[in-house]
Amino acid sequence: MSKFHSLTVSDVRRETPDAVSISFEVPEALRDDYRYTPGQYLTLRSDLEGEDTRRSYSICSGLDDGELRVAIKKVEGGLFSTFANDNLTAGMTLEVMTPEGRFLAEPRAEVEGEYVAFAAGSGVTPILSIVKSLLEREPHSQVTFFYGNRSTGSIIFRTVLEDLKDQFLERFRLIHVLSREAQDVDLLHGRLDAERVRKLAQVGLFDPASVDAYFLCGPGDMIEQTKAALGALGVDPEKIRSEMFVPAGGSAPPRAASLRAKETAKQGATIETVLDGARHSIEMVEGDENVVAAAARQGLELPYSCKGGMCCTCRCKVVEGEAEMATNYSLEPWEQEAGFILACQARPLTGKLVLDFDEI
Ligand SMILES: Cc1cc2nc3c(=O)[nH]c(=O)nc-3n(C[C@H](O)[C@H](O)[C@H](O)COP(=O)(O)OP(=O)(O)OC[C@H]3O[C@@H](n4cnc5c(N)ncnc54)[C@H](O)[C@@H]3O)c2cc1C
Repeated sequence: MSKFHSLTVSDVRRETPDAVSISFEVPEALRDDYRYTPGQYLTLRSDLEGEDTRRSYSICSGLDDGELRVAIKKVEGGLFSTFANDNLTAGMTLEVMTPEGRFLAEPRAEVEGEYVAFAAGSGVTPILSIVKSLLEREPHSQVTFFYGNRSTGSIIFRTVLEDLKDQFLERFRLIHVLSREAQDVDLLHGRLDAERVRKLAQVGLFDPASVDAYFLCGPGDMIEQTKAALGALGVDPEKIRSEMFVPAGGSAPPRAASLRAKETAKQGATIETVLDGARHSIEMVEGDENVVAAAARQGLELPYSCKGGMCCTCRCKVVEGEAEMATNYSLEPWEQEAGFILACQARPLTGKLVLDFDEI
């Protein structure tokens, strides 16, 4: 089960004018707890403006870097990202949850894979970890990375990526797509949208039929468009893995509660949770937005991070009763069919709901 530990920030590095990367000191006793698979993220937690603030940040270090590092891009008016960019210094401590997430690349030395990654802006963070680890741990694999940014100055990890290109000349192709800076090749000037992805394949920069896995990370609209283009190119959806940092079109308002959910809220519902083998019971009443909020009101802390249906930290299984979700950007159809739900988006449809957080 994921847990927070207090970790000391060992280094803060300015990567671009509006992005920093931060590494953590992991004590020997916690080494195993912070072992990660490339693609996973950490939930950072701090008391900001009197609020318990949690945000997810993907690990950018490769498996052989010998450090645990995340990168945080400042979002206009953003609470945590502004704090991290303007105030975090080495020596400070942060509450850091053990690695989570299912956007994964698990390198195996014997594999001869062909991989293609697409990222925009800060979406590079898990992709850097994935690309580095695949190149280092799969000596016969090839990686092509299409990286969208506004301009050269806003490219996070530009030098690290150039160095990787030099180190793995034969196996790593890096292609920058810039929206506000002209490039020698017209095709590489603009946004990473469906049309551009289609053209990148058309001119032979990747061959959709021979790629083993695609890794997509960034804002929702970029992911949706890239998925649509790959689908139209005949790519099997099973080969596409993605991680969304922000929903398409920004944080859309949650779906309105159904009549049944409203009726159940009026009557009140009992929620039983199973967490780390322990059972707790809470009451959900009208006005409680979701299960996580109802639990917090009654002093029970359930796992959560983004509260927006994207990160999956609050994933649990409905073992009795029924519930609906306000939004869901991360659970796959098979998971929903198997009864998984996001507690931060869950509204009960029955008077009793039993949720198992230990079920994976
Ligand atoms: C699984 C996962 C992994 C993530 N990994 C990273 C990472 O490696 N690096 C990174 O910088 N961010 C990452 N994010 C985004 C991060 O968790 C925060 O959402 C982001 O830093 C904004 O938080 P904030 O407190 O500064 O802004 P908030 O105060 O929460 O929001 C301020 C405003 O900005 C909007 N907003 C929120 N996030 C973004 C965004 N990413 N782009 C544009 N507008 C936004 C909100 O809708 C709101 O209007 C990840 C998100 C998820 C779900």
